[in-house]
Amino acid sequence: MADEGEVGYDKLIVATGFDYADPGVPGTDLGGLYYVKNIRRAMEWDKVLDGVRQAVVVEASPLGLEMVTALCHRGIKTHLIDPGAWALSVATDPDIVAPVQDSWREKGAELHFGTTLTGFLGDGTVRAVATSDGEIACDLAVVCTKKQANTTLARAAGLRIGSADGIIVDERMHTSAADVWAAGDCIEVPHSVTEIPVQGLSGSHAYAQGKVAGTNAAGGQRTYQPVSVPWGMVAGDWMIGGVSFSETLATAGYDFVVAELQARAPQCPHRLGPVCTYLVNQRDAVLAFALQLDADLDAVMGFAPDAILLPGSFGAASVQQLSAKLAVREANFAVPDGATRIIAVVDAARGVLNLASYRGASARLAGIAWSAASLRAEIGAETGRDPSGAHAGALRLARDLTLLAATAAGVAAIDAAFAAVADAKGLRAEALAARRDGFSAKLASDPGQPRIINQAFAAPGSRRTIGIRRIEHTDP
Ligand SMILES: Cc1cc2nc3c(=O)[nH]c(=O)nc-3n(C[C@H](O)[C@H](O)[C@H](O)COP(=O)(O)OP(=O)(O)OC[C@H]3O[C@@H](n4cnc5c(N)ncnc54)[C@H](O)[C@@H]3O)c2cc1C
Repeated sequence: MADEGEVGYDKLIVATGFDYADPGVPGTDLGGLYYVKNIRRAMEWDKVLDGVRQAVVVEASPLGLEMVTALCHRGIKTHLIDPGAWALSVATDPDIVAPVQDSWREKGAELHFGTTLTGFLGDGTVRAVATSDGEIACDLAVVCTKKQANTTLARAAGLRIGSADGIIVDERMHTSAADVWAAGDCIEVPHSVTEIPVQGLSGSHAYAQGKVAGTNAAGGQRTYQPVSVPWGMVAGDWMIGGVSFSETLATAGYDFVVAELQARAPQCPHRLGPVCTYLVNQRDAVLAFALQLDADLDAVMGFAPDAILLPGSFGAASVQQLSAKLAVREANFAVPDGATRIIAVVDAARGVLNLASYRGASARLAGIAWSAASLRAEIGAETGRDPSGAHAGALRLARDLTLLAATAAGVAAIDAAFAAVADAKGLRAEALAARRDGFSAKLASDPGQPRIINQAFAAPGSRRTIGIRRIEHTDP
């Protein structure tokens, strides 16, 4: 311990709480960024707010909703940016938050949905937030990204960490080490429906877990049941709530559920917990993982995934290399030989030029998808669309070549995601065009999209219905 040296223990309870996920963009070292974590920070912050005219809240998480509400009440011009189509889109339905959003707008808030954070700008102190839709000037920014288990101490002590990045405990809150218990936001517990671990819950959960850990550490007997995560909160002029899953997600109709294992910080590479949100009522959905690092394979093979999504695929060689790695892991994890399929994602110019190589590349290849956003960024095209809204230029070529290559290889051709998540009409038109042209699926980038995509692909004459949601994170 700092200043006290080593302190022995007979029984130890770890309750180190959470940290906000690193936004993973430039400028996070600037002053004027607030991560509201406890009452003392909130009290310091209270004084700062007196001089603030304009603020940006990053992400419409539960804490983000509270912050927008509080800043509006304070008379501060507030902007909310979030990649989803509506506030808290991972946990609730649009009709539930519509009155909340209206009440924020009545108080002068500006809501930027379908918008991602790209950086914080300023010289020492933040003066603007950079987003996919341009810059928003501000005096301060409140960062309300996903809650992540604070496991620094637990990792250093060698405690086992689970797939949702929390400390693994049994139903008595006992960790993998003798005489060490853990409770609260630093642990992960199974969800009562899916039995998949979830983390980053609430103070009520932390309290109940703490009672279990304390009782058992003191020699008593108490157990903790899997959770179903009911929630309720004040947002805008309303009190809203729900239980675990929104109707939108429960009825989205995903055929493929893709968990993205994107590592924003090296110490937190795996986030599988959110997958449970998308598997409820859809136990027959195909579970796939988007591969970023080799180490991810070891983390996910225990789940016996149906498929691995391979971003950055450069052609047959990429698929064959992954196939060899899968063969080894299938043997190690007692998964049937060849059961894990591969969906190649063509997201770079080199990948487009090698599309012909997929034919006969591997029996594991289940589909070829293309990504408009990554390609456009690499090419440096100002816009990837013509005035009618259709893909144009090199992007159109990449789309069409993906379709031809998948057809020649005898696998599913999967159209790129539609980025404007709030534009249902545009998505419907693009999904219908994809089906009409011969694609058998379309990637989705928001929980509101699969229903529209599946309707389009279920239209007469379609061959298959596949909605794919790439998940970056959710807050159950
Ligand atoms: C703004 C806000 C509003 C919230 N509102 C609600 C609500 O209305 N209802 C609800 O149920 N929940 C709410 N929550 C969530 C709730 O606060 C947390 O879930 C709960 O506090 C978790 O308890 P914990 O003991 O696990 O972690 P914490 O309360 O975060 O405590 C962890 C403690 O461990 C300390 N620590 C970390 N590492 C070390 C180390 N190496 N050495 C020593 N100490 C360490 C930290 O400093 C901290 O004091 C809210 C959270 C926030 C931030």
